[in-house]
Amino acid sequence: MIGITLLGSTGSIGVNTLDVVECHRERFRIVALTANRDAEGLAAQCRRHRPEYAVMADPSAADELTRGLSDLSDPPEVLVGTDALASVATLPQVDCVVAAIVGAAGLLPTLAATRAGKRLLLANKEALVVAGSLLMRAATDHGAVLLPVDSEHNAVFQCLPRDFSDGSRLDDLGVERILLTASGGPFRDTPTQQLAQVTPEAACAHPNWDMGRKISVDSATMMNKGLELIEACWLFDTHPSRVRVLVHPQSVIHSLVQYRDGSVLAQLGNPDMRTPIAHALAWPERMDSGVDALDLLAVRRLDFQPADTERFPCLRLAYDAATQGGTCPIILNAANEVAVDAFLQRRIGFPDIPAVVEETLHRLSGESVAGWTVAQLLETDRRAREVAEQNLIGSIQ
Ligand code: NAD
Ligand code: MG
Repeated sequence: MIGITLLGSTGSIGVNTLDVVECHRERFRIVALTANRDAEGLAAQCRRHRPEYAVMADPSAADELTRGLSDLSDPPEVLVGTDALASVATLPQVDCVVAAIVGAAGLLPTLAATRAGKRLLLANKEALVVAGSLLMRAATDHGAVLLPVDSEHNAVFQCLPRDFSDGSRLDDLGVERILLTASGGPFRDTPTQQLAQVTPEAACAHPNWDMGRKISVDSATMMNKGLELIEACWLFDTHPSRVRVLVHPQSVIHSLVQYRDGSVLAQLGNPDMRTPIAHALAWPERMDSGVDALDLLAVRRLDFQPADTERFPCLRLAYDAATQGGTCPIILNAANEVAVDAFLQRRIGFPDIPAVVEETLHRLSGESVAGWTVAQLLETDRRAREVAEQNLIGSIQ
């Protein structure tokens, strides 16, 4: 039995992971489930999956969780606070940690799991954006196998000839470039002057994927693809110039790898996160995910367009931050988290998101992060959030 800690179990990736695990109860056992504030959701998951531990990151919701489980004869041990996230990610009976917390908040438990040498299924892309060098080094030093769950990176992983834990470089593998596909989000064809009026509801209504609110807004601004570009550079040890974004509205091809000999390998499937989750859970084997087989005759056509960085300035900002490296991706991510949150609370408009990110990047100069500890990286994150909050004020009409 493979023991699993699922960080962020009440979210979209968390729920999809439990769906897959439930189909393979003979193979996987849930050791710990964690959530931020959704005590009711976590209690319901505990009843169904019977973990040993349940963690509520936000202490204000912990009593509600304990009350919600009080009638169980063998309730899970309820742990509270952010340190408990790292504790359940490093338990000896845990083989595999699914990192599905949203935002930089997921970094510390993800890093702890990596340092404990666990198999890490990484959905939490912001952790790599903030601390890619530390996470990748920790994986090598502690023998942690890092498997991408983000659909594009999982697709690239599947299109590469062998796994990356042996330290191969893309050049050694004959890879010319990585092509990341993007749906273009709900505003792919919206006239630019109408973007000022878009609501959080419209931004969260993704045409192909059902996801959490933050990543849905990131998809609408295309910051998601920008964060994924940075994620790809860390996972596959390459430079941003070797990664190209291609808009593909049907979201059937999840990404591609272009080889030196002219071959291009792609991974295709219905847009359903249970496929990459099942792939990473079973790797190097394959198992059922519950996802319907792809019907190419129903799909009929696959379209491609260049990415429009005029309409989607976040993509340009992310390319620049990725190229500059150092603290720039941390600042980009922190400012984006602040701006998306403000947009979701209707404090700023949709076009203010890239404006706040750009202004924050202008106000804080980039520095090298060579030799930095996680505390230093998180201090940059904290400072960037402070500056982004100040920049919000200028955006609030
Ligand atoms: P979500 O908002 O649906 O869920 C987030 C989860 O994290 C919840 O369980 C929540 O309780 C927990 N959480 C939030 N803030 C926390 C905090 N401060 N401390 C502890 N726990 C906290 O998000 P999601 O859509 O499932 O995305 C999760 C991650 O996976 C993100 O990094 C996202 O970019 C990535 N991802 C998601 C999808 C998708 O289809 N949803 C696809 C690819 C990658
Ligand atoms: Mg993705």
